[in-house]
Amino acid sequence: MKKKGLLIVLSGPSGVGKGTVRKAIFSQPDTKFEYSISMTTRKPREGEIDGVDYFFKEREEFEELIRQGKLLEYAEYVGNYYGTPVDYVKETLEAGKDVFLEIEVQGARQVREKFPDGLFIFLAPPSLSELELRITQRGTETAERIRDRMEKARKEIEMMNLYDYVVENDTIENACEKIKAIVVAEHCRTTRVAKLYKKILEVE
Ligand code: 5GP
Repeated sequence: MKKKGLLIVLSGPSGVGKGTVRKAIFSQPDTKFEYSISMTTRKPREGEIDGVDYFFKEREEFEELIRQGKLLEYAEYVGNYYGTPVDYVKETLEAGKDVFLEIEVQGARQVREKFPDGLFIFLAPPSLSELELRITQRGTETAERIRDRMEKARKEIEMMNLYDYVVENDTIENACEKIKAIVVAEHCRTTRVAKLYKKILEVE
């Protein structure tokens, strides 16, 4: 019997560095998770490649995918849609591989409802003031957008309790190391291992 993969969800407030940590994890040769590339209606930033960073979609196309039930979750975030293609996630988990989602918190909440068995990791900023600094320094957003993101972030931090683990993003290296360690530990969790044995032995 094939063991199903683990659905790993990395989420957290805007500007905390989810994307940077995710990219660092996937640049390490020993990483065994599969990254689920999201869809978005946001325009590509410089250097971003369609099908690598995101699948870039028009609003109408995205709304059609929603109607067709092709998204595991989706959210409208600062004026754009973001969502996770459901088929890729299900097929990859069935193939026994761990799937890694890096998504904002509304989406993570939806995934929790559909996959209560998933592993939910909240990436937390070292402090709120540092979060503000990081957002301001990004330099690609207008002041109004920054205010929007900040307000959203305050609410998001309150959501920490919905997660299985909190990893503080003090340094990228530490955060990556902790996330990988959590995944290893999660695979060894009694409930997961026992469930598999029971299936193999066909006992209750
Ligand atoms: P950005 O525009 O900076 O690439 O991403 C904005 C936010 O959208 C980030 O917090 C990122 O984690 C989140 N995001 C990226 N892909 C998805 C997705 O598929 N679903 C949801 N809900 N959020 C996503």
